[in-house]
Amino acid sequence: MKEVRQVQVDRRLARGLRLNAHKTMSTTAPIDTSLRPKRLIVGVKQQLGAPGEILVATGDRVRAGQKTVAAGEPPSAAMHAPLDGTVSAIEDRALPTGLGKAIVIEVDAVPGETVSSPPGYLDVTLLREAGIVGLGGAVFPTGDKVTYADHCPTLLINGAECEPYISCDDMLIRERAASIARGSVCLMELCDAHECIIAIESDKPEAFWAMTGALHELDDNRLSLAEVPTVYPAGGERQLIQVLTGLEVPVGSYPPELGYLCQNVATAAAVDDLVRTGVPLTHRVVTVTGEGVAQPRNVWAPIGTPIADLIAHCGGYTGDVARLIMGGSMMGLALPSDTIAITKATNCIVVETAEEIRGDFSERPCIRCGDCAYVCPATLLPQELYRHTVSHNWEQLEALHLNECIECGCCDVVCPSHILLTEHFRVAKRGARVHAEEVRRAERAADRFSEHERRLEAQLVAQRAQHETLKATARNPLDRAAALEAAKQRAAAKRGAPSES
Ligand code: SF4
Ligand code: SF4
Repeated sequence: MKEVRQVQVDRRLARGLRLNAHKTMSTTAPIDTSLRPKRLIVGVKQQLGAPGEILVATGDRVRAGQKTVAAGEPPSAAMHAPLDGTVSAIEDRALPTGLGKAIVIEVDAVPGETVSSPPGYLDVTLLREAGIVGLGGAVFPTGDKVTYADHCPTLLINGAECEPYISCDDMLIRERAASIARGSVCLMELCDAHECIIAIESDKPEAFWAMTGALHELDDNRLSLAEVPTVYPAGGERQLIQVLTGLEVPVGSYPPELGYLCQNVATAAAVDDLVRTGVPLTHRVVTVTGEGVAQPRNVWAPIGTPIADLIAHCGGYTGDVARLIMGGSMMGLALPSDTIAITKATNCIVVETAEEIRGDFSERPCIRCGDCAYVCPATLLPQELYRHTVSHNWEQLEALHLNECIECGCCDVVCPSHILLTEHFRVAKRGARVHAEEVRRAERAADRFSEHERRLEAQLVAQRAQHETLKATARNPLDRAAALEAAKQRAAAKRGAPSES
């Protein structure tokens, strides 16, 4: 048996933060697989790109794994019923990203028999049809990502779960390392990669050793393991490449242009499940944590589980709940209610108490200390971006690469003026998109107007020329008679009658 190859990582992320991890509270128990909610609210669109056609109707019986929404135009991925049940409604519901169409399923009290049917092959169409998307949070359809990154020499499997509170990847690696390794091999073959590096942060020794064991078993020397330093946000795609290789992905470029395709460990495990059992993506591991939940842990949850059910499954609230966050404490989204259901993008629910979010956070004016620029992992100038977001200076925001902001929240943490920079940037990105659309619309209207003007001008020139000809013939009676005769002949020829002459 060969030694597991380890990639030497001697580079550090130039920027970023060392944060209090808050992970141990959810990693003491194994992943809980016993959750079976009574009702699922499955959002129709859960991935980047377009959704396809809804394939079920109210009143339909659905089986676990049955396709409920077809994949749309690429990039896209299908959706499936996570459990057996009956569709009770297809209607707009509050989803983490806002109001959207959802399929509501009343789950059968007794689970039906599961039939395993391995597909016997794997291609990008199967990935799309099985609803596999990036489970690190971006939810980009995996089949399309692999297609775009065809012939990428290096596959990076991202197990660097750097954000505080989230431990779902850590626990998945500890418990299903072999599955992740097998799924990585499948992904390597799909994108023609020569090597695969599985990256795990240095503060996850159990996961690291579990993966070392799995790679020993697999005995495929194309796969290697890298222990990356625990710096937030080393788990970001671009930051991970920088940590591992020292290469910076240039502004406006994507990792495959440098020869790297990144996939999350949970995505690799989902690919392995698909290949071995034919089961599409219907469940994911969700970390339920924070001081506000009685029994923090990781749960294998059906997609569409209402958050209230997840919390109840973990012992309920402790009584002192100040904020509910979907995602981690840095990049997560504050939720208005626990009736919202989880999606494929939901890796964590943090129930924060007033104690966890204590402090005076009233914003004060920027003192131009430069701390935000010092920590920004995307090497942006947050204070300058902030200045231009306030004045809605869209051109300057574009010039300062607002879209390269990964919304990591590092600048917020260090800002002595407590300016919620990341929130300003999120809003500004939406504003910039609206502005760009308005500019495009204005340009299209201007193009249409100039085309209209050009035609009018051409018509006017033709009319003037005709008018000049008529004027000239009207001045000369002989020409006029000849023109009259020619017109008569033309009319007669049209009727098929002989002319008088
Ligand atoms: S850290 Fe805050 S106060 Fe300092 S420059 Fe940045 S925005 Fe201004
Ligand atoms: S939120 Fe954006 S601007 Fe702030 S540190 Fe992160 S990448 Fe930089």
